[in-house]
Amino acid sequence: MTQINQTHDIDLTSWVESANRAGCDFPIQNLPFAVFRTKDSNEEFRGGVAIGDFVLDLDKVASAAIFSGKAQDAVIAANAPALNEFMGMGKDYWSALRAALSNALKTGSEQQSVLGNALIALDNVEYAMPCHIGDYTDFYTSIYHATAVGSLFRPDNPLLPNYKWVPIGYHGRASSIDVSGQTFPRPKGQTKAPDAEVPSFGPCKRLDYELELGIYLGKGNELGDTIGINDAEDHVFGFCLFNDWSARDLQAWEYQPLGPFLAKNFASTVSPWIVTTEALAPYRTQWHRDENDPQPLEYLESTSNREAGAIDIQMDVAIETTKMRDEGTAPSQLSQSSFKHSYWTVAQMVTHHTVNGCNFLPGDMLGSGTQSGPEHEEAGSMLELSRGGKQSITLANGEQRTFLEDGDKVIMRGWCEASGYNRIGFGSVEGTILPAK
Ligand code: MN
Repeated sequence: MTQINQTHDIDLTSWVESANRAGCDFPIQNLPFAVFRTKDSNEEFRGGVAIGDFVLDLDKVASAAIFSGKAQDAVIAANAPALNEFMGMGKDYWSALRAALSNALKTGSEQQSVLGNALIALDNVEYAMPCHIGDYTDFYTSIYHATAVGSLFRPDNPLLPNYKWVPIGYHGRASSIDVSGQTFPRPKGQTKAPDAEVPSFGPCKRLDYELELGIYLGKGNELGDTIGINDAEDHVFGFCLFNDWSARDLQAWEYQPLGPFLAKNFASTVSPWIVTTEALAPYRTQWHRDENDPQPLEYLESTSNREAGAIDIQMDVAIETTKMRDEGTAPSQLSQSSFKHSYWTVAQMVTHHTVNGCNFLPGDMLGSGTQSGPEHEEAGSMLELSRGGKQSITLANGEQRTFLEDGDKVIMRGWCEASGYNRIGFGSVEGTILPAK
């Protein structure tokens, strides 16, 4: 488990003044990574670190050669159009670079004069995928989501008996994952109404989002080896916001017996910034399994997982309709939740995924599953908020929705707060639905 160190100190401030503003997503305690370039330019995409209202250009940092040892090796690796090599170097290198960046960006740093010209305004950059995602697995770790969705798809049998024993997941499609700003046509496919005799074909009528976290693997494991529960988090490079767009009507017809397929593989969107596992250390909380529920099998059980396996990452989701855009009104918030409600921890997901010898490669991604909280207002999908499409949701400007319409933009944000520590944020992930082709 990552320990608290001097990079988390609430009293640290930066010579980048905007990083010291209350409520800023990117104070010096955060230091998330993305792959970026100047907007509308032909520059090479390369690694960057967010600080206040700016991106610190790792190309400039690497060539200034102001770091040494593992930190310098790490910044050279991160100065690339994909962060996979850096992510694969492991925790000692990630941590060395974080410490060096913190030192270089803090108020009074001797390195300020060298790095002054390495900052580019966030408003003036565009992003690429932060890494190549070779393989992507989506979990289902919110028992509230699993129960709510289960009761819509199987009213008589909402939560299947394996749920409380096995961290449920399926292997998803990595090729259709794109970075925030993604647009995609409404998917088409087969659907069958419960009272219809045969399925019909056409554009999805029940298009939905899923409020999730993406979890990026860093150092992988050899095929045949297992990552034990106490080592699991050392393999996790960091976290992003993740919208797992879902076609509910396709899903309801196709999902049995092998799980989601075309309902999920047409688009998924990640936020550009990866908040590192180390940055999240102050926001960890106890992981609790209700005493009336089955306790985890031994390979999924550990003291440190009990003590600090959960992370209080707060998330919210908002919608901006075409009308809101045209009239210049603010997006309408749909719900707010936290990853602390997850039934399984990240360590349990990583260990379970590899317990059979399955191998991870640097840059592989896990979806957390839709993070619905215990209350209806904390639901992480429209399927739940509209109770299966039966109850329309009234937006701030009076518009109604049961599912997403063409032109709708979905905006998810994430942040962490803990007493005695600074607030850090994830930025946002945004995506917009185009009409079916
Ligand atoms: Mn999902």
